[in-house]
Amino acid sequence: MVSVGQITQNTKRVALTDSVSALVREKTPGLVALRRQLHAVPETAFEETATAKIITDRMEALGLPTRTGIGKTGVVALLEGDVAGPTQGPTLLIRADFDGLPVSEETGLAFASRNGSMHACGHDGHTAILTTAAEILVEMKSSLNGRVMFLFQPAEETISGAKAMIADGVLEQYKPDRAIGLHIMNTIPLGQIATNSGPLMSGGIRFKISITGVPGHAGMPHLAVDSVVIGSQIVLGLQTIVSREISPNDPGVITIGRFDSGSRAGNVIAGETILEGSARAFDPAVLQTIFDAIKRVAAGIGEAGRATVEVTEQHRIRPTINDPVVAEWLGGIARSIVGDGAADVEPITGGEDMSEFLHAVPGAFFLVGGAVEGAGAHHSPTFDFDERCMPAGVELFVRAALDYLG
Ligand SMILES: [Zn+2]
Ligand SMILES: [Zn+2]
Repeated sequence: MVSVGQITQNTKRVALTDSVSALVREKTPGLVALRRQLHAVPETAFEETATAKIITDRMEALGLPTRTGIGKTGVVALLEGDVAGPTQGPTLLIRADFDGLPVSEETGLAFASRNGSMHACGHDGHTAILTTAAEILVEMKSSLNGRVMFLFQPAEETISGAKAMIADGVLEQYKPDRAIGLHIMNTIPLGQIATNSGPLMSGGIRFKISITGVPGHAGMPHLAVDSVVIGSQIVLGLQTIVSREISPNDPGVITIGRFDSGSRAGNVIAGETILEGSARAFDPAVLQTIFDAIKRVAAGIGEAGRATVEVTEQHRIRPTINDPVVAEWLGGIARSIVGDGAADVEPITGGEDMSEFLHAVPGAFFLVGGAVEGAGAHHSPTFDFDERCMPAGVELFVRAALDYLG
């Protein structure tokens, strides 16, 4: 049986949903304009001072208490709900990243960057979406019992901004209870919002292998220790780790992306070879097993070939793991916005430092389809996304906040 109270509440909710859609439509021209403004002036990791200023000005214009310089250039603005009586509810963290890449733009867009850097991953879109969601939520704060923490993060591309903000105490200060964020993906069709329960993006380790042999004459290999041959054996040796040491049920990948060796002469045996690569897995324990095996195999091959081999870890990122409860809740809201466009997505073997927030706070990350025909891949000089994907992102953030703090 449905009570009168429930009917009133449901009617209120429908009215609220309608007014969110109307507000998102009203704000869309401003959303697009802000994305283009940000797109024209990209800044790379931890250099985003002008971008942070644009965001800070917008947040302060909304009357939100705003803290800047968190993790070097990060910004957080806090919205207190304004229901009758003191706000008792929880705090929702909504995160957007705002760094560009050291890529020279070749899109030919009217608002293309001319400063040598580029928003080649869509972070301009993420920031415009979160800023617009903040504008709408400020107008609806009488429906919020709790706080929304708008978190603008620098240096996602170097996987260091989230860690820097957390090290600066951002979670201790605001104590969020739930965290959400999004990424525009031009591999996903326009009109889709995709997420999953559990691991969404992989963890990874970037590593370097230094091989020291003995240089020598190409015709007298017995007097040298050839680091190119040993390096080649290591590259091939590493490829059996995933296939022979890891369960077929646990995905993992090892790629050597750099093989640097030799002088300019083909008749000289190279004494030094440097390999750099990346290992990825969705389970941190599997990732550690892979990395331990990389060290063991590289050292063993080096010893067999009389070379000195050193393996160093350069960088490590956690997998991005969605909390099942939050992912399901967010998936339901996505379905109410894009209907059949709400999709489950296969885990992606790319890294994302939203993982740091999701490690500390239960939450979920989701992907918004922005495919554009003819545009280059993410991180390429011709990358672009379809701006028509942005309103759904705004609506999802706003409705998530209204629902969680309703
Ligand atoms: Zn990227
Ligand atoms: Zn990105």
